[in-house]
Amino acid sequence: MSKTLQAIRGMNDILPEQTPAWRYLENTVADLLDSYGYKEIRLPILEFTELFARGIGEGTDVVDKEMYTFLDRNEESLTMRPEGTAGCVRAVLEHGLTGGGQVQKLWYAGPMFRYEKPQKGRYRQFHQMGVEVFNLPGPDIDAELIVLTWRLWKKLGLADAVTLQLNSLGSSEARARYRDALVAYLQDRYDLLDEDSQRRLTTNPLRILDSKDGGTQAVLVDAPTLHDYLDEESLAHFEGLKARLDAVGIRYEINQKLVRGLDYYSRTVFEWVTDKLGSQGTVCAGGRYDGLVTQFGGKPTPGVGYAMGVERLVLLLETLGLVPDELNSPADVYICAFGEAAELAALGLSEQLRDAVPGLRLLVNAGAGSFKSQFKKADKSGARYALILGDDELAKRVVGCKPLRDDSEQQNIAWDALAEHLAACLKRA
Ligand code: ATP
Ligand code: MG
Repeated sequence: MSKTLQAIRGMNDILPEQTPAWRYLENTVADLLDSYGYKEIRLPILEFTELFARGIGEGTDVVDKEMYTFLDRNEESLTMRPEGTAGCVRAVLEHGLTGGGQVQKLWYAGPMFRYEKPQKGRYRQFHQMGVEVFNLPGPDIDAELIVLTWRLWKKLGLADAVTLQLNSLGSSEARARYRDALVAYLQDRYDLLDEDSQRRLTTNPLRILDSKDGGTQAVLVDAPTLHDYLDEESLAHFEGLKARLDAVGIRYEINQKLVRGLDYYSRTVFEWVTDKLGSQGTVCAGGRYDGLVTQFGGKPTPGVGYAMGVERLVLLLETLGLVPDELNSPADVYICAFGEAAELAALGLSEQLRDAVPGLRLLVNAGAGSFKSQFKKADKSGARYALILGDDELAKRVVGCKPLRDDSEQQNIAWDALAEHLAACLKRA
């Protein structure tokens, strides 16, 4: 017997019952970004492996352990994108979109791939919607990105379910000084660190700050803090961001342990976190990466962005019962037709109705069937009206219009009055 084929672990089918919530989220985000003047960019899923090695950096979990990398038929090393920023930077450079200091406010959406341990809120194929802004160095745009997400949470009803964590990483020089201080402090307490953190002490020491290990966290309590090492300009930038968030009334928590381990990150980092999803609580993460474009050989170009985890947001909406019911919208009208002549007439009529009543959700019975079976299907479809077309109706050029959701009487409606009749009925309901 042949083995039933299954999807790859951590790569989910998104079934018809789930897609309305996805579309609701995706459309809400897209409309909002549109209203703030952000433009969509669509990028390939496969890129040369080197892009991510340079763009995310060796010494990160993503590059060292999580990438789906393979040789193609031409022996080139390709990688399924694990995130969107690197590809976006490549694309803007390749097409000269940031030349001459041009401002770009871009967004993207799509699947990302990481070889992680699948669990609730953590998958191997997952989806992000992300934003990247180029050539705006000030805290005003960092604030705009956060304000925009805050408006999104309000629109979705999530405002009370998420909190904002904020930090500044300073300039890369400031961070280098801090790194030295942190390494010196941790080196003296090496034996108390978990194994991962011991390894990171040489590869990526700042990442130790967000270790989940209790022992390591205890050691970190008295460690030097990044804030004490920030340069003047970064401090002013951070104050500028906080002042703007205060001005619109967005609350935040300063989290000194919020870091991105790499040199091209600078200044602002933030995360929106929920306590409603267990340990996979970060639904949106971002920050400033003023050094990234030069890493790819471009001219110095300020950049800032974030990415939202679509699965986690959908889960959150579902958990909190915030997916609007009407999304699983049933049909408005179901046409039943009996006999071949009636079927032909029903098809013509249905197309006329679609022209005349924009947005009409109209199902035409397929597969013929008895009166009883067609009626059963009409009822199951959730439609509010069944239209009935048999030989009698055909001869009189009418259809029987039967309300399915209340007790009112079936009426015969002339074909040429049908569109108007239905539009009025549907409006009334
Ligand atoms: P985490 O700490 O949860 O692993 P991360 O720092 O690796 O997240 P980013 O690379 O900043 O995540 O990605 C931005 C967002 O994408 C995350 O905040 C999360 O919502 C989502 N995300 C990241 N990895 C996954 C995954 N494997 N499955 C589902 N969502 C993910
Ligand atoms: Mg991760």
